[in-house]
Amino acid sequence: MTSIRHSIVALSIFCLTGMVSCGGEDDADDIEVDEDPTEEITNDVSILVDKFTNKSALTIVVGENNITITTKDQPDHKSMYYESGNSLYEAYDEPNNPEFKKNPHNITTQNIVMKIPRFPEKASTHKATSMGPIGIAVNSVALFNQAAAPGDDILDELNTFDQYEGHPQQQGMYHYHTEPVYITQTEGDDAFLGFLLDGFPVYGPFENGKRLSNDDLDDYHGHTTATADFPDGIYHYHATDELPWINGDGYYGTPGTITF
Ligand SMILES: [Zn+2]
Ligand SMILES: [Zn+2]
Repeated sequence: MTSIRHSIVALSIFCLTGMVSCGGEDDADDIEVDEDPTEEITNDVSILVDKFTNKSALTIVVGENNITITTKDQPDHKSMYYESGNSLYEAYDEPNNPEFKKNPHNITTQNIVMKIPRFPEKASTHKATSMGPIGIAVNSVALFNQAAAPGDDILDELNTFDQYEGHPQQQGMYHYHTEPVYITQTEGDDAFLGFLLDGFPVYGPFENGKRLSNDDLDDYHGHTTATADFPDGIYHYHATDELPWINGDGYYGTPGTITF
């Protein structure tokens, strides 16, 4: 029953925000640039919330200055980390990785609440990310940084990833450390993938038809350019196929709060 109620709440919230974005691509000629170019633009990232996909697992509330995302952290793709009775359970089938080994955990329902700034800005000192969730992907899955659990080596842990490059930690919290390939396969290689805790968006590895490398990005794994969503420019992270994958040396902006 609670899940049905959550879905209705989530849907109604999405309906409120569902008509906000898009419509601008052909209007580029009409944009007047009259701002002081040295002034940092503060964008309203709430225009991205209707791009979240796995809505039955998410509740998103857009407030005046913050966006609160509550997730059950349930991947919408198959995984052998679901219990075998789950309709999304699928045995691992990745013949390209003979080193594969399943970790002993299964996916369980989480209650992660992330409150991010609606108008993210560059921080004067860049806070390090911590263990555990550092962001939420559009399909409700937690994003983790490039570090393994204490005592483990992340490059060994890669061999425990399922066919969509995720795995659960000790409490059953499923997460991605690297490009969420199910999302880029279904939404596009340059798609909006989710938010980090500082409110800045994460995009796929492609931009303007070109695959980005870490050399295209700063120490935090992002850069400021115009994007389809923000034609005036916005700082954003990119997932790349090289370590550190999603985030580098911490948050570009000031992180909000996250409980789990
Ligand atoms: Zn992990
Ligand atoms: Zn970019």
